[in-house]
Amino acid sequence: MRDEFERIFGATPTGVWSAPGRVNLIGEHTDYNEGFVLPIALPQAVKVAARARDDDRLRLYSVQGDDVVTDLSAAQLVPGAVTSWAAYPASVVWALREAGHRAGGADLYFDSDVPGGAGLSSSAALECAVAIAYRDLYRLDLTSDELALIAQRAENDFAGVPCGVMDQMASASCVAGAALFLDTRPRSVDGGAPVLTHRHVPFRPDEQGLVLLVIDTRVKHDLGDGAYAALRAGCERAAELLGLAALRDLDAARLPAALDRLPAELGPMVRHVVSENERVERAVALLDKGDFAALGPILTAGHASLRDDFRVSCAETDLAVDAAVAAGALGARMTGGGFGGSVIALVPRESEAAVEAAVEAAFLAAGHLAPRVFAATAAAGAHRES
Ligand code: ADP
Ligand code: MG
Repeated sequence: MRDEFERIFGATPTGVWSAPGRVNLIGEHTDYNEGFVLPIALPQAVKVAARARDDDRLRLYSVQGDDVVTDLSAAQLVPGAVTSWAAYPASVVWALREAGHRAGGADLYFDSDVPGGAGLSSSAALECAVAIAYRDLYRLDLTSDELALIAQRAENDFAGVPCGVMDQMASASCVAGAALFLDTRPRSVDGGAPVLTHRHVPFRPDEQGLVLLVIDTRVKHDLGDGAYAALRAGCERAAELLGLAALRDLDAARLPAALDRLPAELGPMVRHVVSENERVERAVALLDKGDFAALGPILTAGHASLRDDFRVSCAETDLAVDAAVAAGALGARMTGGGFGGSVIALVPRESEAAVEAAVEAAFLAAGHLAPRVFAATAAAGAHRES
């Protein structure tokens, strides 16, 4: 990366930083309802070789980009003005400046092995790589949680994607060998800036002979883009009708009475959010006990809820889940926003090959492209590499 950086920018980079993609074990479509999530960071990451510049030029190049150097002014970034992939890295510089940080020009060279658009959060990885490089290059006094919140604001308000905070928190704040149990309701301690409560929960299924497979279905249905905003709006409307700050404030005991008060189209969505928050809490209790196998049925129940109540699965993700479970997975679910993307399956090591083969056979028989399958471990969050 250093050689390529020099070739493109004609200078030596100060260092190389990396920020990972993620899969969410459980807790889907809960982060914008101020609920719970439980992601792990992936070994796959976006790497950035970088150096600060004395002037205000922001020069961006990515191996996965468009083969040209994008040249912007750090001081004159305007939301919506950058429409290529470069909007994601530029958004972070904009958000840092909006938050009052000294973030000037830089040369940034990216390379990544996080599959893009596969529901594995390559966008958050890209943002967090920029955020952590800037933290060091400009000696910014920022915690990893603060970096994540800045990266989320960047994606929301500059790149125009209304995502919750899970992806950026996973990429910035995960540690190796653990999942991140995150409460997405911001809390102010002693009147200070809002913080997110979280805890690292050990996740080492390999110690019990288990493998977490990621099955990238390689499909992304266009309807996902508009549907996300509509789902979010539906959840917010339901909370408002119920007189709650967020759906997080509803528990299973009060769910039946709440369903009686809601229009029919909102009920199942609310039921998903309530049951999903509960599944996260049950999953965390199991991981705390080191009982990784018992996570399986929770994953499959989570998928049924996303399929039947929240209605964000699709033929390909349903097929991957069903084929994996039939071939010996202890549990499986779609992960990420839905309408395609990736499925995770918790699999005994001795069934790994059979599950992979069964999913691939099912996809080919249904006329789909073969999925990409890999085993995931819980990796570290964003950090400096060299
Ligand atoms: P996901 O975050 O699930 O991978 P998104 O649609 O949110 O999917 O983000 C994918 C987009 O992020 C890509 O279309 C591209 O614009 C940008 N992106 C991610 N990684 C890179 C990279 N290494 N180089 C250039 N652009 C990237
Ligand atoms: Mg994304």
